[in-house]
Amino acid sequence: MTSRRGLLYFTLSEIEPRIWFMLTGCNFRCRGCFRPARDGGGTLLSPEETLDRAEQACLRHYGKLPGKAMITGGEPTLNRDFLIALVSGLRDKGFSEIVLMSNGYELGLEDSYASELVDSGLTEAHIDIKAFSDDIHRWYTGQSNKPVLRGVELMHDTGVELLIQTVYMPGIVEANEIEQIAEFLSSIDRGIKYRINPFAPAFAYERVSRRPTIEEIEYAYKLASRHLDNVIISRSCYREFPTPPSQETWITVYPDLTIKRRTIQDQEEDRIAWLSRTKGLTREEIIQALERDNPTYRMELERVIALTSDSKRKEA
Ligand code: SF4
Repeated sequence: MTSRRGLLYFTLSEIEPRIWFMLTGCNFRCRGCFRPARDGGGTLLSPEETLDRAEQACLRHYGKLPGKAMITGGEPTLNRDFLIALVSGLRDKGFSEIVLMSNGYELGLEDSYASELVDSGLTEAHIDIKAFSDDIHRWYTGQSNKPVLRGVELMHDTGVELLIQTVYMPGIVEANEIEQIAEFLSSIDRGIKYRINPFAPAFAYERVSRRPTIEEIEYAYKLASRHLDNVIISRSCYREFPTPPSQETWITVYPDLTIKRRTIQDQEEDRIAWLSRTKGLTREEIIQALERDNPTYRMELERVIALTSDSKRKEA
């Protein structure tokens, strides 16, 4: 029997019909994690139950099934049987784009995992390379990056659409680390898409770094672009290429199929509650320590995102 997996909620896009699966639990303990799904919880469901509730959520909101599914978490690859059954179930329901968002670790532990996912219907994989130096990776995530790098190679070998991402963290993962990652990727294929995201300290589990300056990110972009043809700068929490426009609200559908239209403030509240619960601090203590971006930084970041995304679109 296929194992069950915790589902925190589904997210439905308001920009175009598409659904995200937020699965719980993770094999990493990234110091800068900002995902409450990391810690498990949610509702335990079989792949069939998950698919059935996803279908009901989409039919109620869109009146039809969308073509695109994004599987994220937490870390979706933890239960191999569950994930493969979920992917093949999505394909059987007619989804034409099935995207996996992963830290890559499990994908590199078993040679056949990536190809089995693609054979089951996976069409795209987004994998994070948190650091190139193994000691930094171990310090930041608690695990070696060797399986991650292997996972990237194995996923590339399948021929599936691939996007790799790294978070720029001043003092930890800076331009030199990013250039080494770009060199590694170019040794596989210089056409691999690569995104650099700025570290966002506001809701990080540990505030291990600060926001990089725009100049720091641009410099890393320049170095990575020496080795790769498809580098872009992005925001921290989106995993698409190019970066999509900002959204004001998201439709969240919980496993019991209750629906809530959530704003950025609602998402902030979830993270405040998570940090408060896991760190034993009051809500007020968390809020007092929040460090929000100033509007100028936001505007500048949007400008470089537009520049780097636009040049890639024109080249495409
Ligand atoms: S950032 Fe992602 S990979 Fe890292 S601990 Fe959080 S959920 Fe896991």
